[in-house]
Amino acid sequence: MSNTILEIHNLKTYFHTEEGIVRAVDDVSFHIQEGEILGLVGESGCGKSVTSLSIMGLVPVPPGKIEDGEILFKGKDLLKMSDKELQKIRGDEITMIFQEPMTALNPVSKIGDQIAEVLEFHSDLSKKERWEKAVEMIRLVGIPEPEKRADSYPHEMSGGMRQRILIAMALIKDPSLLIADEPTTALDVTIQAQILDLIKKLNEQFHSAVLLITHDLAVIAENADRVVVMYAGKMVESADVKTLFGNPKHPYTRGLLKSIPVLGEPDKKLHIIEGNVPNLIDLPPGCPFYNRCPEAMDRCINELPVITTLEEGHTVRCHLYGEENK
Ligand code: SF4
Repeated sequence: MSNTILEIHNLKTYFHTEEGIVRAVDDVSFHIQEGEILGLVGESGCGKSVTSLSIMGLVPVPPGKIEDGEILFKGKDLLKMSDKELQKIRGDEITMIFQEPMTALNPVSKIGDQIAEVLEFHSDLSKKERWEKAVEMIRLVGIPEPEKRADSYPHEMSGGMRQRILIAMALIKDPSLLIADEPTTALDVTIQAQILDLIKKLNEQFHSAVLLITHDLAVIAENADRVVVMYAGKMVESADVKTLFGNPKHPYTRGLLKSIPVLGEPDKKLHIIEGNVPNLIDLPPGCPFYNRCPEAMDRCINELPVITTLEEGHTVRCHLYGEENK
């Protein structure tokens, strides 16, 4: 039986701005098992990236603040750790791949040095051994002529190669959890599939758990084991991939699924979820999806739905499935 690597309980991360309080992550709970890929999906501004920054301890304070909740990594609460303890876990056991590979690399440092530098602070290897390990990782992420590439600078590489380098840097310490925040957004479509294949292959090889953050449900369908759907800072549905795609319950999830283009039906008009994500400063008292929901009822205006468990592993936050509707 797999162990639970990460458990998030009732996480609330808010930003205190001049305009008011932005409830970017509001009462979010989920877990990740050892070796699994969990997809975190939703539109821009739904709280996915702030969730990952909260796990990494990278929420800018102020204006950000983790108001409440627990983030248990291997049973220990990251929110109660000192900066030193957190820094060690962040380098050794939880690593992250960001959206934009160019800005995440140092333009004036050789690729091999940048990968080796990760080991400088987190291992006892000699300089020569660190360089050799860097070359080995470049080979592992599928870049040809790794010795030559280790000696290159970031601007001498394509966007896809730079993202592979970031994956190498993230995996060199064999982390227990890899957070990939929209890892293919800045890349060409043909390269996107290669990078996602690589993450999946390395997940199988290294057995690191992966939190895959994306706005694209098609990416989730291809790569994740389970899915958490977020909307307006809240978790609205979670299930294993087969259940979510075969039996989606939340009206927002259904809308997202209908928006995926179908291969072989190029003329089919794509479904659009009308309207926009509400302003997180001024959320209505009821369901935040109310203004866009085709199944909204009167009670949705003022009553925030709670999370309901439909069956083991499948939860939803919607009045259609509350106790009173059973
Ligand atoms: Fe729609 Fe109401 Fe469910 Fe919200 S609670 S998703 S408004 S039916």
